[in-house]
Amino acid sequence: MIRVAVNGFGTIGRRVADAITLQDDMLVVGIAKTSPDYIAKLASVKYRIFVPDQKFMKEFEDKGIKVEGSVENMIEEAEVVVDATPEGVGEKNLAIYKKKGVRAVFQGGEEADVAETSFNAYANYDSALGKNYVRVVSCNTTGLARTVSTLRDSIGVSKIYATLVRRATDQNDSKKGPINAVEPSLSFPSHHGPDLQTVIGNIPVDTVAVKVPTTLMHVHVVNVDLQKETNSSKVIDLFSEKRRIFVTTGKDGKSSTAQIMDYARELGRPRGDLFEIAVWKESIKVSGTRLNFVQAVHQESDVVPENVDAIRAMFELSDREGSIERTDRSLGIKGGMQ
Ligand code: NAD
Repeated sequence: MIRVAVNGFGTIGRRVADAITLQDDMLVVGIAKTSPDYIAKLASVKYRIFVPDQKFMKEFEDKGIKVEGSVENMIEEAEVVVDATPEGVGEKNLAIYKKKGVRAVFQGGEEADVAETSFNAYANYDSALGKNYVRVVSCNTTGLARTVSTLRDSIGVSKIYATLVRRATDQNDSKKGPINAVEPSLSFPSHHGPDLQTVIGNIPVDTVAVKVPTTLMHVHVVNVDLQKETNSSKVIDLFSEKRRIFVTTGKDGKSSTAQIMDYARELGRPRGDLFEIAVWKESIKVSGTRLNFVQAVHQESDVVPENVDAIRAMFELSDREGSIERTDRSLGIKGGMQ
């Protein structure tokens, strides 16, 4: 059993902790958090709670939440830390992990150079084999990496263009916006293009991102220049073969992110998560070597299985197919949904 500590227990950390608990080759030794809120109270029923330092201990204990020790104490019990702290904090934590000789998985809010490799299980699982520091790419990049690497591996990809319609913030956040504006990224490519290249290799990528007032999902409009001519049904088949891609349809009412997430809630998974990237079947159109499609990304959960696979790769516990199979089975990612 690989002993895993989860540092940062917000949107991503709590989901990754629960996913690790479901694995038969990993266990959670503790989680660390900075605010003694309702999430900390709920977490204390399931996990041992740690805090960055002494100052936080009193705040937690005043709220009746038992604290086991500091983040350093937690790390001493672990072989690997999943760092799910806010953007930029992971980079600062790297020094502690190095000092303590513990491996670490970082999230996509960190710069790529925080780790030895950036990671997506479909796109470059083997790059993390035996590594000490790995970064799971962001939710948007994970979405693009799953579909684009599927095309890369079967047909070949010459160039990718993607317009990312980004959710403003997550559902539990009432502070960030925009709440009544559309906010474009003003540089081309947006940072997502170079980020995608960290996992799919040197394929040219052009991206633009536009933030909109929604919290449910991101939507990507993707145009791909393929290396060979193909047809729409071949692409539908390729995507459908991948359990982490959900080829869906608007014809039965799932015509927006509202219904996609409603469907996800009906699946009955914890938190109504959708680990799969949803691609609308009717949007998949091939003309010669040009492919167009539209996909939706549940930003809160698509990176969760990737964190589990990253750990297996780092400890060389499994090859790519074996790890993906185990992770998917544990999380109920079955494929075959419509
Ligand atoms: P979040 O704000 O929801 O959670 C961060 C957690 O870290 C909170 O529990 C907070 O108490 C804790 N924390 C803050 N400072 C800390 C410190 N110094 N030490 C220990 N814990 C600390 O953040 P999130 O949305 O889960 O994002 C975490 C990472 O995952 C970021 O890199 C982000 O870019 C990335 N990510 C986020 C999403 C998303 O949609 N939310 C998707 C993919 C990747």
